[in-house]
Parts: sequence; structure tokens; C-alpha cells
Amino acid sequence: MSSLPSSPAPCYQPDKLFQAKLKLSNRALDVISSAEHSHVLRRVASVPDTADYFNSSTISSCSSNSTIDDPNLLLPPPQHVHSTPNSPRPSLRSSYSLQKDAVQVGPSDFEKVRLLGKGDVGRVYLVKHKETKKLYALKVLSKKEMIKRNKIKRALAEQAILSTANHPFIVPLYHSFQSNQHLYFCMEFCVGGEFFRALQNKPGRVLEEKEARFYAAEVVAALEYLHLMGIVFRDLKPENILLHESGHLMLSDFDLSIQSPSAAPPTLVRPNSPFSKQPLLDTRSCMNLRTNSFVGTEEYLAPEVIRGKGHSSTVDWWTLGILVYEMICGYTPFKGPTRDDTFELILNQSVEFPDYSNNPYYRGPGLSSKCKSFIKQLLCKNEKKRLGARAGASEVKSHPFFKSINFALLRNMKPPIIPNKDNPIRAIHFNRLKESVSFDLLADNNDQREMTSDIPPDTDEDDDPFVSFNSEIFLKWFCDMLLFEMVDAIMELLVGFAWPLSRTVKMI
Ligand code: AMP
Repeated sequence: MSSLPSSPAPCYQPDKLFQAKLKLSNRALDVISSAEHSHVLRRVASVPDTADYFNSSTISSCSSNSTIDDPNLLLPPPQHVHSTPNSPRPSLRSSYSLQKDAVQVGPSDFEKVRLLGKGDVGRVYLVKHKETKKLYALKVLSKKEMIKRNKIKRALAEQAILSTANHPFIVPLYHSFQSNQHLYFCMEFCVGGEFFRALQNKPGRVLEEKEARFYAAEVVAALEYLHLMGIVFRDLKPENILLHESGHLMLSDFDLSIQSPSAAPPTLVRPNSPFSKQPLLDTRSCMNLRTNSFVGTEEYLAPEVIRGKGHSSTVDWWTLGILVYEMICGYTPFKGPTRDDTFELILNQSVEFPDYSNNPYYRGPGLSSKCKSFIKQLLCKNEKKRLGARAGASEVKSHPFFKSINFALLRNMKPPIIPNKDNPIRAIHFNRLKESVSFDLLADNNDQREMTSDIPPDTDEDDDPFVSFNSEIFLKWFCDMLLFEMVDAIMELLVGFAWPLSRTVKMI
């Protein structure tokens, strides 16, 4: 083992399995052989075009870069954010997610240390709170870009979800505030960085089964909480999991999440499984939520998302299956050389497991039958028969794969990877990123006087699309969302597929 390279770890690819699976062309084999390289890249959430598969008029008119049910499409045409020298100062009042005191915070209260990461829509900086010297991760979104890319509702939804969530495995949002030009999320700084990077640094990019079980259990606990809150996460992948300094994981990036306007209280269901005789608590409070969005990350997309006929919270159980497979095998089960091949495999290929006797990096005794059964049941193509479809998280937790896990004491368990947290300001678990243009927090705090003339001078507060970014008007946002979902449901009933189509066309 000592002669094996460690970082960045090469990826073990069982060639025979992949060749048989894909009936690969020569071109395809070239791509597979470069999989090692491609795995190093961070995967971004994509919005696939599945027109070729289904020839559905709804889908075929969808641009490959559009989102069918992007809630922004229901917004009136975006208004410019307004501020005049005489208008009230843009709200810098923080929404304090832990619901303690209202505190006043603004960009100038923080000192920028370095850029930590770039997401689809924003940048995340390591910052130091000047007064307390505490480190935070500060996510900054440009309002102009949000408006241009029709992402206003997504940013508001992310803020609303993060500001209401309070769970040990979900990244805490301490403050959210805005300047004239930017939206700010002030979050816990997760010293250990992305779980994705931690996996990359493991020999063979694999974890032992018991290690994967630990992380899977923490993800299940977080998803259970989200589903009970009526939220479907929709973009589970190692890139969206951060490691807290304790080594426990934290879900982050709720950009693609969707919240049901009415989370039903949990009920009891009779067990329909050989594993449990006890009644199960049905935690699928968001089951009344079905959406047609083509969102997620290619390799992690569930079949029902690709089919575009609507999906629900069970997509999160599918993505959990892919995640567990990736943690243990070092690659995702349905990755093909092209996006179309990946979709083809997701829709039609049953999950297969590599032969560990040939894997030079695998350190465990081989994949247990419980683990295989767990993954297979999560990766059931029929969402109605998928593990978790009947009773949500309780059903997933009752699978024998988790027999050794005491979910109530997860936080007391010692995580397999404990990040080095000496001198956290150095952020050693993050890649060194360069800013093309240095972002100045102090200047942004004072940007009122520098507003450019493309902002209409007499726009009042009601026209500000970001007015609900602060928690004091969270209720208004919630009512808007409720209204939006009701209109959406009625329109879908009335015009079936024509509705998402009309929205797609509007967006294009
Ligand atoms: P996001 O825009 O949420 O996808 O974040 C982009 C990147 O910033 C992530 O992939 C992380 O590398 C980093 N990041 C985001 N949030 C945090 C956080 N709370 N603590 C540490 N790093 C973070």
C-alpha cells in the first residue's frame, strides 16, 4: 500500500464493467480512459435537454441551458434595484437564522481574508468579523447577475431555506444582508472544505464501507429534517457537502432546492418491509410537492427527472444511492462518455458493482450484501418502489445497512476524516483561487453614492425584487411562494404540459 500514490488519488475504473455496460465505441473508450482527469473537475449542476429521448413537445422546446419550472419565470420582468442618495439605505439588517436578536451587520463589518470558492452564481469568501475576530464564510451574489440570469427567486428561496433551517448537518446561516449591488449570506466557515476534495485525496478516491455508512447516515439525518420541513434538496453530491472542523458533514448550496408551501405533519405507516415490524414515521411531508424542473447534476439525476414527467422528494433518495456508490467505488454508477450515454445508463442500466479483488486501492473486506442491497434499493428506477418512497427517511434508516448506526447519537460518533484545523485562517483544505477583480467589502458598503444611472431614479421599495431578502419580511416571501405554488398547480391541472412549455418559451 505504501507505494500507492495518495494525493490527488487516481480513480479505480473497472474497465471490463464499463465496456460491457456501454458497448463503447473507440471514442467512448478514450473518454473513459481520461476519466481520471475528468473526476478531478468539480461537477456543476446542469439542466439537461432530454428531447432526444422522449420527443415530448414539452421537453423538446427546452433549451439545454434552461430550467422548465424555474420559478423566476413567474416573476414580472425584473426591475432594477433602486437607490437614490435620498432613499433609505439598502437594508443591512441581518436576518439572524438562529432567531436570537436582530442585529445590524453590513459588508464593512467583515474583513476579507481570501476567496474560498465559486459557485454557479456567486463567490464565497473567508472573512473575519472585525469586532469578534471570528471567521465566517461569506457568500456574495451580484444582484445584477441574478436579474440577468433569472435567478432572483432561487436566491430568495436559498436564503429563506437557510434562515429557517437549524440542524447540525446543515450549514448554519448567521446573517443575510444586502447592499445596493450584492446579496450576502454569512455562514459558518466549514474548515474542512468540500467533501468532494476530501474524497479526491483518499487513495483510489474510495472510503471503506463503514466510513461511507457514517457519512450516509448524516446525510439521511439532514434529508429527513429537510423533508419534514417540506424541502427537497435536489442536488446532493460530494461538491455540496462541506466538512465542519469536527469532521461532521454539513449540506450546503440550496440553490436548486424547492420548498413545498404546505408541509404536512408526519403520520405513521404500516411497515411493508422484511426489515422492520415497527410502524414507521412517514417523514415525507413534502410528498405533495411535484415539480418538473430539469435540475441537478448530470451523473446524479434520477430517471424521473430525465423523463421530465415530474418528480418529488424521492429524488433525494436516488442521489443518496449515487453518493454511497461513489464514496465506496470511487466513481458514479451510470457515468457514460457523453451526457446522452449517461442518461441512457441512468434510464436503462441496472446498477453493477466492481470486483474488488482487482482494486488495488480498496481497503475493506469487499462490499457487503447489505450495502449492495441498500444501494440497489435506492437506485430503483421506479420511484414508487424506491427505498424511502413509502415512509421517507424512517424507511431508509431502518434498512439493515444502518443496523450499527444509532441515529440519535450520530453527533457523538467520531467522524472518519478529521480536518486539520490548526490555523484555520490559512484555509488549507481549499484550492488557491485567484480573483480576477478584487472584491472590496468596504466599497460595497458605501456603494449608495456610486449607483450608476441604469437604475431608474424613482423606483420604490415595492419594485425591488430583493426586498424580501431580509427575514423581517420572510412572511411576505412565504405568502408569495404559497400563491406561486397554488397558481402553478392550478395551471398544471388546467393546461397540463402546455404550462411548463409556455414558461420555457417565455424564458428563451
Ligand atoms: P456555493 O456557491 O454554495 O456552491 O459555494 C461555492 C464553494 O464555496 C463551495 O464549493 C465551497 O468550496 C465554498 N463554500 C461555500 N460555503 C462554504 C462554507 N460555509 N464554508 C466553507 N466553504 C464554503
